[in-house]
Amino acid sequence: MPKTIKKVAVLTSGGDSPGMNAAIRAVVRTCAYHNVECLGVYRGYEGLIEGDFVVLDARSVKGIINKGGTMLKSARSKEFRTAEGRQEAYKKLKEKGVDGLVVIGGDGSFTGALVFNQEFNFPVMGIPGTIDNDIFGTSHTLGFDTALNTVVDAIDKIRDTASSHNRLFFIEVMGRDVGHIALNCGIAGGAEEILIPEEDLGLERLVESLNKSKKSGKTSSIVIVAEGDKIGKNIFELKDYVDENMEGYDVRVSVLGHMQRGGAPSCFDRVLASRMGVKAVEAMLDGESNYMVGLKNNKMELTPLDSAIKGKTKINLELLRVSDIMST
Ligand code: ATP
Repeated sequence: MPKTIKKVAVLTSGGDSPGMNAAIRAVVRTCAYHNVECLGVYRGYEGLIEGDFVVLDARSVKGIINKGGTMLKSARSKEFRTAEGRQEAYKKLKEKGVDGLVVIGGDGSFTGALVFNQEFNFPVMGIPGTIDNDIFGTSHTLGFDTALNTVVDAIDKIRDTASSHNRLFFIEVMGRDVGHIALNCGIAGGAEEILIPEEDLGLERLVESLNKSKKSGKTSSIVIVAEGDKIGKNIFELKDYVDENMEGYDVRVSVLGHMQRGGAPSCFDRVLASRMGVKAVEAMLDGESNYMVGLKNNKMELTPLDSAIKGKTKINLELLRVSDIMST
């Protein structure tokens, strides 16, 4: 028999992403719709251990759907990695009469939720919030679409200066293990080359390709580099290599950094967050646990948390080919 859920807690954990607020709002309002009480937990698992809770009703989440970041704050908690820390968190949830937990975060946060469930048989649901789009079981994570728009906007601006001065720009975007942001934004921003962790173009081929572009009449160039690119050099070393091995370009570097995580969520992310929040709470009320909600073929689907954690997302090979053709 599934446990009856009368009170749900929601927290945001790990790196923040645009759309987390919209997801909190959706969780809270779905609870209100079903006459279930809702508590917000400040600072992720850190706040769970400390019992840093706030009562949230439908009106407490007004005016946040359009805000970046997370009103509940986010944190990384070393203590939650210990059995003692999780025991304390369980105690705090029981004291408040909470019987279900919604975790908005990345795969690390989901691992914490799964361990917690296994130890205390406590119902948990995950909502994938990360700009990297590196979580298995959903075509889009919360914040990915907003980050793409932010990065494309930045590339457009950099291109203005690149073309005015005949410059070659290396632009570093987020993506330690995956090149989803780089590949999509590279195509959308008209980049000449896109360097991603999944592919090793090689330095010589990079220079060869840039020389080819130059000969074909291009006067400026943009190369998008994902943080975790496998070419084996950091972006400043790449610049030095190209400076030494290519003539006629003034080579510059721009590292976009944390601005990619901020800003008002896009329409897509707000709708996605709302759908995910509704699905997470309603699945929990139906007695489900240990799942992540995700978008598959434009439908809300549940993926077991352990598959979401262990599974790997794949780079879209068709997009790679499109990018090759577009840089002709
Ligand atoms: P991001 O994608 O931004 O890194 P994330 O959710 O993967 O987000 P992590 O820092 O990996 O972020 O994890 C967030 C928190 O989840 C950790 O600080 C820790 O409290 C908890 N956590 C992660 N792994 C475990 C684990 N094996 N056991 C218990 N808790 C864990």
